[in-house]
Amino acid sequence: MSPAVGYVLSSAFSGSTLLSFLLDDLPDVACVGEVTDVIDSVADKAGYPCSCGKAVRDCDFWQAVSGQMELRGFHFGAEDWNLRFHRSRRFGSRGWLKERLTVRSLHNLTLDAWRDAAVSRLPRTGPAIREIALRNQALVQSVLQVTGKSVFVDGSKDPRRVALLRDLAGFTDPFVIHLLRDPVGFVASATGHGHSFERSILVWRTMMRHCEHLQEVTPPERWLNVRYEDLCQDTTSTMSAVAKVCGSRLPAVPVVLGRTGHHVRGNMMRLDQSTTIALDTRWQDRLTPEQLRVVCDKTKRYRQELGYPELDSLLAGLSSRLDEREADPTAAS
Ligand SMILES: [Zn+2]
Repeated sequence: MSPAVGYVLSSAFSGSTLLSFLLDDLPDVACVGEVTDVIDSVADKAGYPCSCGKAVRDCDFWQAVSGQMELRGFHFGAEDWNLRFHRSRRFGSRGWLKERLTVRSLHNLTLDAWRDAAVSRLPRTGPAIREIALRNQALVQSVLQVTGKSVFVDGSKDPRRVALLRDLAGFTDPFVIHLLRDPVGFVASATGHGHSFERSILVWRTMMRHCEHLQEVTPPERWLNVRYEDLCQDTTSTMSAVAKVCGSRLPAVPVVLGRTGHHVRGNMMRLDQSTTIALDTRWQDRLTPEQLRVVCDKTKRYRQELGYPELDSLLAGLSSRLDEREADPTAAS
């Protein structure tokens, strides 16, 4: 029988690492954050720090998972992860082009399905993609075996994994947690990490479109929108809704951010020992009124649907923040 599997879908900089910790604290849920491989620019993959503080090669949890993977016929470790469909080393030379043609979304679920069926019949690429899927299937089984839990949540954030693992790994009835962040906050975070302003807006809108398409073919009871802002400001009731869509028993109340006993992969927040859940409002220091206007204009429909504040309200917040900074220049971060 297929294990209960769900996915967190979101853009980067939207609180998915925080949500991964909170998910892993649910009584029946195992969540290790981003399942997919460490990015290629990380040279020392074995030294990649797990959220428990140890390097992956020294982490008892990941060693136990590797042992379970071996029992299922897969060599698995920090240097041989291979759970990522995108940028997989299995595609070899000209991997980027092959990936474009064989794995990446065509922005239409029907076209994706036709293309996936055709690719599965290719003599070399088909088996390579199937192998990645089977490694993911074994990882889910292994993590559930090691943790003794019954529900696995994949925090890799990538909508394509939902279809690929449904069709190739037999995860046929997944649930989806779509983690949303006000695009104002997202763009401020993304630009703070060196991404361009225009591209950040495009990335946010593209993720929304991918998720809209996927939601159209997902039973309503298997889909939950979670706003990052609600997760931070009303954590307990938000996590109760999350537990419900996961099919888990409810979390301990009130929900707190526990830092021990987790082995989460993801952004650097995983190594932060703070147990405080605080809404990131740095957009007030990073975006100009004109940038706010552009973001709101280009995300207008979504802002209304998701209940995010209108431009006037944001400008008022910005104005009071500027007043605070004038009164106390050291307050700006
Ligand atoms: Zn660990």
